[in-house]
Amino acid sequence: MAQVLLEGVTKVYPGGVRAVNGVSLTIEDREFVVLVGPSGCGKSTALRMVAGLEEISAGTIRIGGQVVNDVAPKDRDIAMVFQNYALYPHMNVAQNLSFSLRLRRKFGFWRNPAGWIGSGDYRRRSAEEWQEIGRRVADTARVLGIENLLARRPRELSGGQRQRVAVGRAMVREPKAFLFDEPLSNLDAKLRVEMRAEIKRLHRQVQTTTIYVTHDQEEAMTLGDRVVVMKDGVIQQAATPYDVYERPVNRFVAGFVGTPPMNFFEGRLVDSGGRLAFEDGDLRLPLAPEQAGRLARFAGQGVVLGLRPESLHADPGSAGPSGATIRARIVLTEPLGDRTDVHVQTGRYSRVICRVDARTRVKEREMVDLVADMSRAHFFAASAEGENLALP
Ligand code: ADP
Repeated sequence: MAQVLLEGVTKVYPGGVRAVNGVSLTIEDREFVVLVGPSGCGKSTALRMVAGLEEISAGTIRIGGQVVNDVAPKDRDIAMVFQNYALYPHMNVAQNLSFSLRLRRKFGFWRNPAGWIGSGDYRRRSAEEWQEIGRRVADTARVLGIENLLARRPRELSGGQRQRVAVGRAMVREPKAFLFDEPLSNLDAKLRVEMRAEIKRLHRQVQTTTIYVTHDQEEAMTLGDRVVVMKDGVIQQAATPYDVYERPVNRFVAGFVGTPPMNFFEGRLVDSGGRLAFEDGDLRLPLAPEQAGRLARFAGQGVVLGLRPESLHADPGSAGPSGATIRARIVLTEPLGDRTDVHVQTGRYSRVICRVDARTRVKEREMVDLVADMSRAHFFAASAEGENLALP
């Protein structure tokens, strides 16, 4: 296990695409960090540079304190799990699991520092070494619950079982770090959720430093100790799932994290009779007192208001003392069982979504008074950067 450190890491592909641009990030020993962002944001490239599969154009990567810029992938002591599991079809599960150990020439070296076997011939192993390989395969199979599958070939396994073997193959090496590149993308939705929980449980158990790449923000939020949101090769925010959701640093992060996405309204902060309010045309939403204090210095300026779907209530009677209501027309309802996503139109905004309890009576084409929970409102600068104005 080890810390993984990226310092000013940049990747420029031949042809000039700057896929990763000056990324600095410390992944602590035992930490589970998820790189997430839209397609093309550079997350796979960043991971592949850690793995050594992609050359680094500038910057430094350290694994366990050692600079690995020029260290070959096989000597970095990390294990990678890909989207296509790439199991050897002609080997059974036990052979797939033990393959890397059987191949590893220096196996004896890092297990028994005193007794490094110098021959370099991986076939000539002592009985103890074979025992050790057997023990590791058995341990891995037990942890993953695939002991009963050891004699099967990959084609005799379900998608989830194959994925488990692929993870096992990484685990068995007891590497310094696990690297996952969209490992669940090929699985159906239900299995993906199951495997997600399994990977998390596994990490709790073995605690190996993990870097996990996904485009799925829900997967990122559920898995990561920390979530690193990337855009155009640059880290936007690296923080806990809670902070990324509740305290997004800018409008991009706010819009990327959360489904359905945050609703944005473009207007101005106005001071009316000593109380700060957000205003856009007929829309007028007084700020919650705790927010008003922090945002007073932006009075008179253009801002972007962000309200998550769950911060807009359509239930009659939910109008609190705030007086922050939005008159809107319901255009579409999406029942999801426990809740309903309601698409509404208000003023110039045709794609506002609010999320209501399934028992709330909502009918398409009817008018509704949405109540905004302004204590959970977000405010961003009207600039391209769109930084969160409420953060220090
Ligand atoms: P992500 O994993 O976030 O989808 P990638 O890291 O795969 O993004 O790609 C980042 C950018 O680098 C994209 O613009 C992509 O087109 C470009 N890119 C990726 N691989 C190569 C390559 N081998 N040669 C040139 N450009 C590449």
